[in-house]
Amino acid sequence: MDITRFDVIIVGGGPAGLSAATTLSRALRSVLVIDSGSPRNGPAAGIHGYLSRDGMSPAEFLSIGRAEVLSYGAAIIDGAAVSARRTPDGFAVTLGDARQFSARRLLITTGLTDVLPAIKGLREQWGKGVVHCPYCHGWEIRGQRIGVLGTGPLSVHQALMFRQWSPDITLFLNDSVDPADEEWEKLAARNIRVVDGAVTSIDAPDGVLAGVTVGQRMAFGVEALAVGSRMEARAGFLESLGLDAQEHPLGVGDAIDADATGMTAVRGVYAAGNVSNLMAQVVTSAAEGVTAGTRINADLIEEETRWAVEGHFGVFSAASEAAVARVVLGGRGHGLESAPLASGSSPTVLPQRNTGF
Ligand SMILES: Cc1cc2nc3c(=O)[nH]c(=O)nc-3n(C[C@H](O)[C@H](O)[C@H](O)COP(=O)(O)OP(=O)(O)OC[C@H]3O[C@@H](n4cnc5c(N)ncnc54)[C@H](O)[C@@H]3O)c2cc1C
Repeated sequence: MDITRFDVIIVGGGPAGLSAATTLSRALRSVLVIDSGSPRNGPAAGIHGYLSRDGMSPAEFLSIGRAEVLSYGAAIIDGAAVSARRTPDGFAVTLGDARQFSARRLLITTGLTDVLPAIKGLREQWGKGVVHCPYCHGWEIRGQRIGVLGTGPLSVHQALMFRQWSPDITLFLNDSVDPADEEWEKLAARNIRVVDGAVTSIDAPDGVLAGVTVGQRMAFGVEALAVGSRMEARAGFLESLGLDAQEHPLGVGDAIDADATGMTAVRGVYAAGNVSNLMAQVVTSAAEGVTAGTRINADLIEEETRWAVEGHFGVFSAASEAAVARVVLGGRGHGLESAPLASGSSPTVLPQRNTGF
């Protein structure tokens, strides 16, 4: 069994995980990224809404990200974390192939799983003709005949949203939505057609979405279909740490609770990106990864400073002896103090007071 120790293990190498890895590696931390290689937007042809990366394929985006992370000295391994446990000085993560790694802090950036309605032909069109997010795909399907598949109470809201991108919207109730009077009024006022009955297939005869079938026979032509998935945090392997995903208040899925800096309820475990924020897009996930990285580094600095104060690094180390000499001798040293620093070298930070040596 291989046990290797890092400052930080990041589970999940998508935009959130790789951004955190860059931040932490640039802070001179030893970092391991464990990634199972199935980013959420994998089925999409290109990323939209990420300034300077518009239209880039998710695979190319991650490949560039991985190269940047590696260039700063972090390690990336392919594999899936299956469990994590607390150790006396941090955490140990076990992979599916039984390899084990340990670290002082853990960052979870595993994203989420989109649970799709079980309708014939829908999964094959996910990320192509079937979309979920108007900010990711709305521009590309603007002005088209757009269907909205009813999946729950938020489907009316989704239809009203997509109406911003096209005047031709059809809401398929799909035996899953029962609009309130006020919602019928809004749908009518925005000229959104409503079709009753269960959708039985998503039709794409040549691989390109052409329409949906309701019941046994009724075919409706659409060029794009918006579907709200149930979004479930990929966090099952954290149960051993006592971290469970919590139901989202809007009923759209579940996520790991984390504060704005990524801290979870378990000390030393952080989360960023879709695993803790179901609504995060690529740029948001990357930003959350950076924020969590800076917070983890601050956490490690606090710990190391405490160790230094407590003398963990050895009372008689060269550094501590030098510090004592400086405090005791002050300006009465033998003259080396005032010698100019060699170009490129950093000044030593002097202790401000005697800390009890
Ligand atoms: C079809 C589609 C198209 C989209 N298009 C856009 C778009 O155009 N613009 C946009 O901003 N957003 C888009 N999104 C949203 C985007 O996918 C997410 O915002 C983004 O992927 C979240 O990044 P993340 O790092 O949190 O998670 P992910 O990108 O999902 O990365 C998580 C990584 O963790 C790995 N992982 C999971 N579990 C484990 C484990 N146990 N052990 C090891 N590794 C694990 C996964 O394999 C994956 O590589 C789209 C989403 C979908 C579904």
